[in-house]
Amino acid sequence: MYDYIIVGAGSAGCVLANRLSADPSKRVCLLEAGPRDTNPLIHMPLGIALLSNSKKLNWAFQTAPQQNLNGRSLFWPRGKTLGGSSSINAMVYIRGHEDDYHAWEQAAGRYWGWYRALELFKRLECNQRFDKSEHHGVDGELAVSDLKYINPISKAFVQAGMEANINFNGDFNGEYQDGVGFYQVTQKNGQRWSSARAFLHGVLSRPNLDIITDAHASKILFEDRKAVGVSYIKKDMHHQVKTTSGGEVLLSLGAVGTPHLLMLSGVGAAAELKEHGVSLVHDLPEVGKNLQDHLDITLMCAANSREPIGVALSFIPRGVSGLFSYVFKREGFLTSNVAESGGFVKSSPDRDRPNLQFHFLPTYLKDHGRKIAGGYGYTLHICDLLPKSRGRIGLNSANPLQPPLIDPNYLSDHEDIKTMVAGIKIGRAILQAPSMAKHFKHEVVPGQAVKTDDELIEDIRRRAETIYHPVGTCRMGKDPASVVDPCLKIRGLANIRVVDASIMPHLVAGNTNAPTIMIAENAAEIIMRNLDVEALEASAEFAREGAELELA
Ligand SMILES: Cc1cc2nc3c(=O)[nH]c(=O)nc-3n(C[C@H](O)[C@H](O)[C@H](O)COP(=O)(O)OP(=O)(O)OC[C@H]3O[C@@H](n4cnc5c(N)ncnc54)[C@H](O)[C@@H]3O)c2cc1C
Repeated sequence: MYDYIIVGAGSAGCVLANRLSADPSKRVCLLEAGPRDTNPLIHMPLGIALLSNSKKLNWAFQTAPQQNLNGRSLFWPRGKTLGGSSSINAMVYIRGHEDDYHAWEQAAGRYWGWYRALELFKRLECNQRFDKSEHHGVDGELAVSDLKYINPISKAFVQAGMEANINFNGDFNGEYQDGVGFYQVTQKNGQRWSSARAFLHGVLSRPNLDIITDAHASKILFEDRKAVGVSYIKKDMHHQVKTTSGGEVLLSLGAVGTPHLLMLSGVGAAAELKEHGVSLVHDLPEVGKNLQDHLDITLMCAANSREPIGVALSFIPRGVSGLFSYVFKREGFLTSNVAESGGFVKSSPDRDRPNLQFHFLPTYLKDHGRKIAGGYGYTLHICDLLPKSRGRIGLNSANPLQPPLIDPNYLSDHEDIKTMVAGIKIGRAILQAPSMAKHFKHEVVPGQAVKTDDELIEDIRRRAETIYHPVGTCRMGKDPASVVDPCLKIRGLANIRVVDASIMPHLVAGNTNAPTIMIAENAAEIIMRNLDVEALEASAEFAREGAELELA
């Protein structure tokens, strides 16, 4: 019997496990479908290139055929181990834009607004470059560092951005987001600092925390509409964990897994559940809806030098010395997160904030790293940060071991494709600026022949992929149609909350790991202080005043 059963040990779940088990009087269970995070490829940053192919550490989902992407079904990696997606992600540390959180405040109240978010980001952060300031923290568990290795060609990209009239930004999480620069990463001493490393590893020995890995949650147990436990499958056997009478089930399975488990357990749109023979517990039509993601297009160029990280016989000496540097000093190119530099720009000058993000990789990247591309080259990722298209997670089957239906419905809003076309043009302008032009041999994809807007649109439909930021499928809001209220309690049910990326009312303009960790920190406080919606508003008032004073 547990006071808290946390399902999913990802970016959010690890934070919850840490905070809730800090009270020795509470018994906490953390269930995770994947194994422990012992694989060295998780911890060596460049190991990311090989994690896409892992069937053990990666759910490796496929989306439904996408109507606006020539009927293609896209690969959707999600982490399946302690740390969840933070154990396989690219480690880029970005919080998003202040306006994202103003929009959250509109949707869910002040406790989810910018001032509160900033306070939490700073509390969680241990920044190794910046001192404690109005933008940064140094006392938290989440290590945020500059990269130990930056390829010269990634530096050339930043230089070229400035030559293309984009300002340099030394801190994307500082005063403003616009500009080109180098990403800070969730790393410590040249190693990945996943949510598990940051929040779980240090508390593994707590006697009131049980962690059950390789445990695939298959159903939430309800008595009427009150959650009382979770069923899971481990080594083909069915097991159950139960809560104490006032205990809670906390769903942190991520934007795909959480709505899926809810639907399998009878919570979702009644008609869809009936179609799959799932008995209804509670008709909550928005479960799985409002799916948002960042769609991404790449420009891949051959380099006329051997500067990039290459797959070639001539790279072997660098590879060997890089391995020694990593093993003995935690330095060298194996500490690279691959997405070393990048930036945030507006698709047109009349926009009030950036709506495009660049990730520059000093290497070829083909099919999410699942295919090897020989030779020396570089890849520019361009993604639409504020997409208007909305999709959904649904059921394919009532079998919990079958993957859900994932339909992001990309480019269903025509604005989105226009933004991406603008992004390609800006990206090409940077790659043609002098500092990059000197490395340029030819554009491999889409190729210089692809020029007009129609050709670029056709190329986007043929090649665009996810940049891995699905959110919104258990939308938080003050309105009665939302899935969870601002305390993250599921509407119409008792003793159950959602705490992960699925609660975001709107996708943030940036990478989603830090915002998800922040959500979990806020949730832990709401749970531990037993706050209700009115109390949230009242305590946020203090937070806001405090933050404003500090900022002034
Ligand atoms: C390849 C990749 C690269 C990315 N790069 C970046 C980046 O550079 N920077 C950034 O900020 N963000 C990045 N992201 C996104 C970011 O990592 C995620 O948004 C974030 O980790 C989501 O956190 P979460 O807690 O919602 O879900 P997750 O971290 O995915 O955690 C969900 C957990 O639940 C478990 N689970 C799911 N279903 C079940 C079940 N039925 N039973 C038991 N357990 C279950 C999963 O195994 C997983 O451990 C990337 C993501 C990916 C996949």
